[in-house]
Amino acid sequence: MVEIKNLTKKYGSHLAVDNISFTVKQGEILGFLGPNGAGKSTTMNILTGYLSATSGEVSVDGFNILDNPVEAKKKIGYLPEQPPLYMDMTVREYLDFVYDLKGVKEERDEHINKICETVQISHVADRLIANLSKGYKQRVGLAQAMIGNPEVLILDEPTVGLDPKQIIEIRSVIKQLGKEHTVILSSHILQEVNALCERVIIINKGKLVASDTPESLAKSISNVNKFQVRIAGEERKVLDVLEPIKGIKYLKSLGRKEANSIDFILEAEPDTDVRIPMFYALAEAGLPILSLELTELSLEDIFLEVTKGQGGKIFEEVDESEIDFVNQSAEETEESMEESVAEAEEGAEQ
Ligand code: ADP
Ligand code: MG
Repeated sequence: MVEIKNLTKKYGSHLAVDNISFTVKQGEILGFLGPNGAGKSTTMNILTGYLSATSGEVSVDGFNILDNPVEAKKKIGYLPEQPPLYMDMTVREYLDFVYDLKGVKEERDEHINKICETVQISHVADRLIANLSKGYKQRVGLAQAMIGNPEVLILDEPTVGLDPKQIIEIRSVIKQLGKEHTVILSSHILQEVNALCERVIIINKGKLVASDTPESLAKSISNVNKFQVRIAGEERKVLDVLEPIKGIKYLKSLGRKEANSIDFILEAEPDTDVRIPMFYALAEAGLPILSLELTELSLEDIFLEVTKGQGGKIFEEVDESEIDFVNQSAEETEESMEESVAEAEEGAEQ
């Protein structure tokens, strides 16, 4: 349905998209995952014909976006990072305006009403866009993309800036849309593409680094070899027991977090689960494990994992303390966001 071949985009001398190729099949929901600055929006802008590529080809349903821009663009509905809304129009006026702009053939009222129902904005149709919440503005953005019944929907970070409840609602609308459309959705949140997409493409610094189903991605990076453990006892004694255990690649004390115990960060060799030998060794030495937690994988861990063995170095060398700091803050915000979403989701089910 959508075919991208050797796409490259330079901004001046800056290589934003570096020789990317992929295809999206009809009816597929494809997740386009990458950190900020990876080149997601640039790629999407080229896909939709808003930006020209430096080299490479894009075709939609067989129509080349350069040779047949009108035909190709008709097949695409686009929700850019910043939805192109007119704040002083009502929702209805705006959708009427987009309908005219796109030169749609379908019966006007029926078409617009149906879209409003799908994205659940019928009850705000007469409100000024300026007075809508961010979540509702995003739905209007989705509605605008759907006018003209395009087969392909391209959504650039559709949940950014929304609160947890709005995120759940937009995700469920997208899931619904995926039943009748081919959807390409970008995100910098792994859990989001996991929740929505059948296939994930990961890009970093303009390069495509992985393409797989969320399940096999998760499998290939299953995370039983990095964790934090709290052990009751003296630090030196614990180290004496742990250090000889085979398969422990990295061990570091984090000091006392609870009375009479020490926390450790521990990393095992790939495909090695050291939890069991660790348990027996510590038990024998009379050093009880109080808690053991697997460390969350950050996007960066995943990039490192998926690019392993490809010879290329994806991350520049940075001061280690800086990396820790950056990781931590990014993980914390993302985690707490995902937690709130999970909580709100539970609430919604009740
Ligand atoms: P993403 O959407 O994944 O966050 P972008 O496609 O927006 O990434 O940006 C990719 C890279 O290209 C970034 O390094 C960004 O700073 C750069 N970039 C994006 N737009 C422009 C532009 N108009 N001019 C120059 N550089 C740009
Ligand atoms: Mg972007």
